[in-house]
Amino acid sequence: MDAFGGAEVRAWIDRFIANVLDRTGELTELDRRAGDGDYGTNLRSALGRARVNLEGAEDPAAVFTAVSEAFLNTGGTSGPLFGMWFREFAKAFTEPVNGTNLATAAGNAAAVVQRLGKAEVGHKTMVDAMVPAAQALRAAAERNAGPDQALHEAAAAARTGAESTEQLLARRGRASYVGEHARGVMDPGALTVAMFFAAANG
Ligand code: ADP
Ligand code: MG
Repeated sequence: MDAFGGAEVRAWIDRFIANVLDRTGELTELDRRAGDGDYGTNLRSALGRARVNLEGAEDPAAVFTAVSEAFLNTGGTSGPLFGMWFREFAKAFTEPVNGTNLATAAGNAAAVVQRLGKAEVGHKTMVDAMVPAAQALRAAAERNAGPDQALHEAAAAARTGAESTEQLLARRGRASYVGEHARGVMDPGALTVAMFFAAANG
């Protein structure tokens, strides 16, 4: 497929929401061990709101706007950061989703989160999955890969990035307050980003 229209993007987001809702217990447990344990609750409220907002959302920009607004209206550190991240996808997807606008979206989105949260790769946050996924999408776009292949590569990069957080000490967010206790715990935000890209592949 050369481009995704609204139906494909909607199916991607619906799979993402369902998969995350299935795993909120596990995500909360990670945040409990290296934070305050509210992450799954924050996600459940954001995704519940997203499902309501998504009613009638038919084109890619409308789908991502619905998800962005749901996260922006949710608490925790992750709510506004994911809200601003998804907003960049909405802004880039004024036409069907292809390799090029995917790379633009993910690049701008990771940059916004980094600007707001001041996290670099290696600080054990969602950025550790966002940045490698964006780089993989850029490399795929430069080879003129289609969105299926590009997202497949982004999912692998995001998963590797998320797994890399397990061994790290946190430098941002609540996990940074618990020092060595956070070592051995994967960052739940990074895992969520990996789940987002994995959901693109069905
Ligand atoms: P809170 O710490 O307010 O309870 P959440 O539990 O909603 O926040 O979200 C925790 C997630 O937020 C972490 O797993 C991490 O990925 C992300 N995070 C925390 N601080 C930052 C930051 N400064 N930049 C990017 N992501 C961050
Ligand atoms: Mg928390």
